[in-house]
Amino acid sequence: MAILPIRVVPDPVLRQKAKRVKAVDGSIKKLIADMIETMHAAPGRVGLAAPQVGVSWRVVVIGIPEEKDIVLINPEIVRRKGERMVTEGCLSVPGYFGVVKRAESVRAKGRDVRGREIKIKANELLAQALEHEIDHLNGMLYTDHLESQGELYKIEPEITQL
Ligand SMILES: [Zn+2]
Repeated sequence: MAILPIRVVPDPVLRQKAKRVKAVDGSIKKLIADMIETMHAAPGRVGLAAPQVGVSWRVVVIGIPEEKDIVLINPEIVRRKGERMVTEGCLSVPGYFGVVKRAESVRAKGRDVRGREIKIKANELLAQALEHEIDHLNGMLYTDHLESQGELYKIEPEITQL
């Protein structure tokens, strides 16, 4: 396993639509293992999408503190409910955070490493992480959701990084 360097804006890989994974082969399994290690390499990181390590495949990992890590291949949000304003930061936009509108709860689905379908009902931080990481696969950043581009703030250490 290896800790991978994080791509930061304006790296074009962050703006590409990532490709669907057709087969979970050895290279995808290694990517997932490296992404999990990279996510846990610094405190406050709760999620990572493959484009953030320069790989344009539809793979995300989520590690909510005190909970089991989640690996999702070809994930999709299938339903969003409610709205709330949340504080958000991103490893690929270092040094800043912003306030964005996210769903109160989401349902997502995807595949696990063995190709089995996973369905997740999520709220709070997990819902936010799912929306944030799946946005990455579509070439979107949380800064795209800011009401105005000036609304970015210098980071405070306790802000969660997605
Ligand atoms: Zn991010």
